[in-house]
Amino acid sequence: VFDVLVVGGGPAGAAAAVYAARKGIVTGLAAERFGGQVLDTMAIENFISVPHTEGPKLVSGLERHVKDYDVDVMNLQKAARLIPAGAAGDLNEIVLENGASLRAKTLILAPGARWRQMGVPGEEQYRNAGVAYCPHCDGPLFKGKRVAVIGGGNSGVEAAIDLAGIVAHVTLIEFDSQLRADAVLQRKLASLDNVTIITSALTTEVLGDGAKVSGLVYRDRATEGLHTVELEGIFVQIGLVPNTEWLEGAIALTPRGEIEVDGHGATSIPGVFAAGDATTTPFKQIVIAAGDGAKAALSAFDYLIRLPTE
Ligand code: FAD
Repeated sequence: VFDVLVVGGGPAGAAAAVYAARKGIVTGLAAERFGGQVLDTMAIENFISVPHTEGPKLVSGLERHVKDYDVDVMNLQKAARLIPAGAAGDLNEIVLENGASLRAKTLILAPGARWRQMGVPGEEQYRNAGVAYCPHCDGPLFKGKRVAVIGGGNSGVEAAIDLAGIVAHVTLIEFDSQLRADAVLQRKLASLDNVTIITSALTTEVLGDGAKVSGLVYRDRATEGLHTVELEGIFVQIGLVPNTEWLEGAIALTPRGEIEVDGHGATSIPGVFAAGDATTTPFKQIVIAAGDGAKAALSAFDYLIRLPTE
């Protein structure tokens, strides 16, 4: 039986495990894939105090840090179900996909999220070679270049405004006949002179020269005509999907599937905390996920020391 069981091995889960273990309590960590999204990242230049690193390198640092402590790391283990404790002091149960069960006094859920992909030819091939998902992360890599933003919701329009200040030109491509972002963002976007907005357009292909992106093809949904835009970068902003399908019905989620947390990382279930990209915390970033993980672990410890003694 764990005092704290962390589900997820990204920056949020790793930070939670280190903070919990440093309290001398029995800590476990189960992750489908230790490292999470960071494993899929090339350059990381905004993890404060580390001016430049690469995803796999940061992950090996996370792993070393967790293994410095007495944490039972169960990698390649996918949680399939959460059975919350019936009453305070009872145990919470995580049922793994392989049928085994893990039991813990407190849980920290940190299953992260995944970017929704366009699913068009070239997208996967040129991922990290021009196809990007995070303007805060990769925007500066396209300084002075031409980029497109796919998606005209709030995140797409925010990304276009952000990128317009860094890159030479932004083409915003929206599937619908109008942008869906808040009016104030749309007004701001319309005021920028290096942004072109294309609506009723479906991106059908990412073009490249074999090594990196050179353009994209979109279909005009009104005329059915195909058009090519030459550019160096494509930011896909059609949604970040939390990995919380397995928690539906067990815990309070927002309509978008984010785990609802308060300022302490507490969820709707006493003794169950959550951290990182899977939660309602604003701005999905490594440094924020790590901070959230630390906070959730300290909250779990606070909860444990208040449990009645057996
Ligand atoms: P994740 O990193 O998503 O980790 C989730 C963990 O939970 C993984 O171990 C996963 O396997 C596990 N998991 C999921 N479901 C289950 C389950 N059912 N059972 C068990 N385990 C499960 N941020 C920056 O700050 N700077 C950058 O430069 C940057 N670049 C990025 C580039 C790319 C291509 C991507 C995709 C993201 C980038 N980000 C960047 C965002 C950053 O990676 C995330 O904000 C951060 O990783 C979130 O951490 P997390 O621990 O919440 O989730």
